[in-house]
Parts: sequence; structure tokens; C-alpha cells
Amino acid sequence: MKKYRLVLIAAVLAAVTGFPTLAADHGQPPVHWSYGGGAGPEKWGELKPEYKACSAGRQQSPININIEDTLNSEIGAIEFFYKPTPLKVLNNGHTIQVDYAPGSSMTVAGHRYELLQFHFHAPSEHRINGKRARMEAHLVHKNAAGELAVVGVMMNRGAANGTVAAIWKHIPHELDKVVAVDGVTVNAADLLPAKPQRFYHYMGSLTTPPCTENVSWFVMKYDVSVADSQLTDFGYTIGSNARPVQPLNRRFILVNE
Ligand SMILES: [Zn+2]
Repeated sequence: MKKYRLVLIAAVLAAVTGFPTLAADHGQPPVHWSYGGGAGPEKWGELKPEYKACSAGRQQSPININIEDTLNSEIGAIEFFYKPTPLKVLNNGHTIQVDYAPGSSMTVAGHRYELLQFHFHAPSEHRINGKRARMEAHLVHKNAAGELAVVGVMMNRGAANGTVAAIWKHIPHELDKVVAVDGVTVNAADLLPAKPQRFYHYMGSLTTPPCTENVSWFVMKYDVSVADSQLTDFGYTIGSNARPVQPLNRRFILVNE
């Protein structure tokens, strides 16, 4: 009885004084930004000077890809050199992320980008002809010059996704802690759709603060499947984590077929 009363008192004190709540004592970082409310996407640019690009940037992501307005490109196919990686999962409160071991990469027009991590958004952040997919995977790469390239894969309702199943089973309960799972590997190649040489390309940004620009985006034309129950599980854990589409401004979207 006493214990409950103490917890209650702590909760009331926290509410009244603004002292950190119990959750903060469990390793949860203070929330700087979110997908709704007072720290939502419209406010990101004002939350910190480092986040200024979120509101002032002219090359922001995600965007709506209007297929009629795309231009044929001569980028050529992306070559993927993905290997299986020992599963390392992170729940940072904004997404579920898998950190990749060094040695997996993709090559675009002769430029090599190393795969760093992949993570998920639900619903999708990019839209194609105004339509959202149920989910979108982002495979984040970096080249030797430090430039980022992200491959976006649309995910729609269908058969269960084996890679997602392996990851969801090991989502850490603790926030911001990378958990290495013994004896389990995943391969980012299993998240690529059929015909990954067909994609849309444009120059954009990170879709989360600090919204850094000069990110090369490659949004796959074809989707992969994810089960209803897998979408539900992600919803329970993370909720909705899609930034609204941003103005295209003076940018071109290229299509590689
Ligand atoms: Zn993302």
C-alpha cells in the first residue's frame, strides 16, 4: 500500500513540478521532436538551431512522386552487394532500426555507398501519384565523401515479410539501446523488391531532424509485402512515424526503367 502511495506522490509531483517522470528514469531520453502535437513536423525547424533545414530547406523529403512528371534518366541499374549481417536492433522511440555490419554496399553510376542501417516508417513517407503504401523501409548508405544515399522500399499488405518477422521478434523493450541478437542474421537484400533496377531518383533530405539535405534518394518502383499483423505490431510499438510530403520546389524526379 505504501509503495503505491509513494508512486502516486511521485507522479503528482512530476505533474506539478515538471520533474522528470518515472519513464525518464528508465533510460528514455527527453523527447526533442515527435510526429504530432507541439513538437510535430511543422515545428521541427523551430525546436533547435540545428534543425533549421526542416523548415528553411528547399530540398526536403519525403515528396509525392507524380509519375507523369518524372524524366527518363540514364543512371543505369543500381548494383547491390548486400551480405547477411548479425542482427542488431534498436528502438529509438521514432523507429525500429537494424544496424549493419561493415562490408555491404551498393554502387550507383560508379559510386560506392556503404550500407549503414535500415529502418521503417508507417505509413510510407513517399507517395507515388498521391498514394501512400502501408509502410516504407529506408536503407541508409554513405559514400567515402560522407554523402548519404537512401533506398526507399514501399511495403504493402500481403504475405508476412520474413525479414520483418525476424526483426520484430527481437525489438528491444528498452529505448535507445542496440541489442545484439545471438545466432540470428538478416539480409537487406531480402527487403529489395523484384526488379530493383526500376526506381525514382531525386535529391532530398533526411526525413527526421536535423533534416540534412544533399541526400540522394532512390525510391523503388515496386513494393514488397508485409502482413497485417506485422503492421499492427509496429503500430503498437512506434505508432505513426511518417513526415508529411514536402514541396518539390525546383527539383526534378528521374525515373530509371
Ligand atoms: Zn527513414
